[in-house]
Parts: sequence; structure tokens; C-alpha cells
Amino acid sequence: MKAFYAKEQKRHDPKAFLSSGAAQPNPEKPERVERLLAGALSAGCTIERPRNHGLGPVAAVHTPEYLDFLEHIYTRWQRIDGASAEVIPNIHPIARNGSYPASAVGQAGYHMADTACPISGETWQSALWSAWSAVDAAEAVRSGAPVAYALCRPPGHHAFADVAGGFCFINNSAVAAQVLRKTASRVAILDVDLHHGNGTQGIFYARPDVLTVSLHADPVRFYPFFWGHADERGEGPGLGYNFNLPLPRKSADAAFLEALEVAFQRIRAFSPDALVVALGLDAFEGDPFGGLSVTTPGFSRIGEAIAKLGLPTVIVQEGGYLCDELGDNLTAFLTGFGGKAR
Ligand SMILES: [Zn+2]
Repeated sequence: MKAFYAKEQKRHDPKAFLSSGAAQPNPEKPERVERLLAGALSAGCTIERPRNHGLGPVAAVHTPEYLDFLEHIYTRWQRIDGASAEVIPNIHPIARNGSYPASAVGQAGYHMADTACPISGETWQSALWSAWSAVDAAEAVRSGAPVAYALCRPPGHHAFADVAGGFCFINNSAVAAQVLRKTASRVAILDVDLHHGNGTQGIFYARPDVLTVSLHADPVRFYPFFWGHADERGEGPGLGYNFNLPLPRKSADAAFLEALEVAFQRIRAFSPDALVVALGLDAFEGDPFGGLSVTTPGFSRIGEAIAKLGLPTVIVQEGGYLCDELGDNLTAFLTGFGGKAR
């Protein structure tokens, strides 16, 4: 299996975020890359550097206002007397239909959902290369590969068309799906991260050409709280094209695989031409977030089950945080999917 990754993706190094109001070390650490690379290599992947695809594939799913913000906000922020080293918002609009502020502080609040996505001088380039890894994985599949893996870091599924959040800046899974749409009439995105893929849902919420399905810890008491509930079904032409499967906290392999079968039924009924798997490994029982209890062999079974859909598949890395088994969990998923065979 081909895997895509560029060393620039490692430069983004967020320092802190607020958890229940307390400043904590940011868990989206560059070291995740080393673990994931080792995991991909163990599964028999060959690692390739993605090409520079420019802004086009990213601008296909994000607003120009937002991309301009992401590229320039760090420099603008440094001109503010007494500003923090990283861009971190401290005020947010209650509704987003008001005026667009000119100030860096106002725009940070407008374009950043929470404190978990601090922007440093390296963030923009890391996020772009992460997205380009997703583009090349999608292009590999468009060229006939049955499956490809994008080692995307920073992750992407909490990023909306014009909002960063939850360690995410550019929505790599959405970028991959949009690239696949060049030739695929219908694309399904299956998000198996511990957290609901709220940004991905938001980007495709009114579209019938991309089905978004997410399995995640029930957001009634878990991030991202305001999205991921079972009654969110899409809107306008996209009504019926979004499907959420919230799981009780600490659900383990059996419950996860059972929910996956329900997801498959919906995906088969959509009859997609291609699939994007938003692969979070933070549903693991030993992940620092501790929301679900999937085991390492469980990831292998999840990979095997998804492969049986028989669809051309782009696997996009989302969450999964530092623990001894992080690399093993990726190996398990990719091997289950057929990493060695393919
Ligand atoms: Zn997650």
C-alpha cells in the first residue's frame, strides 16, 4: 500500500490547550508522526513524499476568507503588543451572520472554534503538506490503486469550510473526497475517530454527492458537544446524506463492529464509487482521551470489515494520541484492511 507523508507536516508544534478550563500540554504532538510512520512501515507501506498541489484542492472545500486568515494570521498576530506566541482565540461570535471583523483578534475568534488549534509560524505549511498527502493518496486511488494511506498530521476532521477546531486546520478527508469526486459520482466518508467529524459533516451537510457517516463517542457529554447527534441528517439537497452513530462511552470492539455494520448498510444503499476512511485511532482503550475501548485486535477487525465493502479507498489519518500502542494500532488497521497483500 502506498502511504504519503512530508517532513514539513512535523513542524507544527502546538504548545497548550484548555481542557475543562485548565491549561494542558497539547496532545497533538509532532512525535505522533514517528509512531504512525513506524506503524505504516510495519504494515508494509511504502512512504512517498506528496507533490505540492498549490491551493486548488484545499480551496475546493474551504473559503478564501479562511485560507487567507490561516496563511497570514500568525504574522499579523505578532504585531499586537503583548500577544501570545501562538494565535489563540478569546472571543467568539454567538451567531456567524454578523459582520466580519478587521482585527486579528476578532478574526481569530471568528475562524477558530476552540483553544485546541493554536497557530504558530509553522502551522500553515504543516497543514498544507498534510492536505497534499491526502490529495496524492486520492490521486493514487483515482489512478487505479485499490487503497492508499495519507499520514495526515495535523489532522483535519474538526475543520469546517471556514473554521479551525480540535487540533484541525484543513479538512484532509474532505479534500480527499473532493479530489475523488473528479471521477467518482458519489463518494462516502466513513469517520471512525473517537470524536464526531463535525467539520466534515459541516462541509458536506447540504450536498447529496458526498455521504458523511460518523461513529463516535456520544457527544451529549463529549467533544464536540454541539454536533454528532443522531438527529443531524443533512439539510436542503443533502437531507438524508449525513448519518451519525453516537456510541455510549467505553463501548468496546463488539459494540463498535455492530455499529459499523449499520454504517455499512447506509453506505451500500448510497452505492458510492469510492470511500474515504477518516481513521482516528483515539477510539483505542489506552488512548489518553479514554472515550471508547477499542482494542488493538479490534482495529484489525475494523480494517478487515471496511475492506470487505470492496470500494476504492483512501485512508486519511485523523486522531490517535501518544500511547505505546499508537503505531501498533495503525499496523493492525492497515494489515486488517489488507496492507501486506496490497
Ligand atoms: Zn479524535
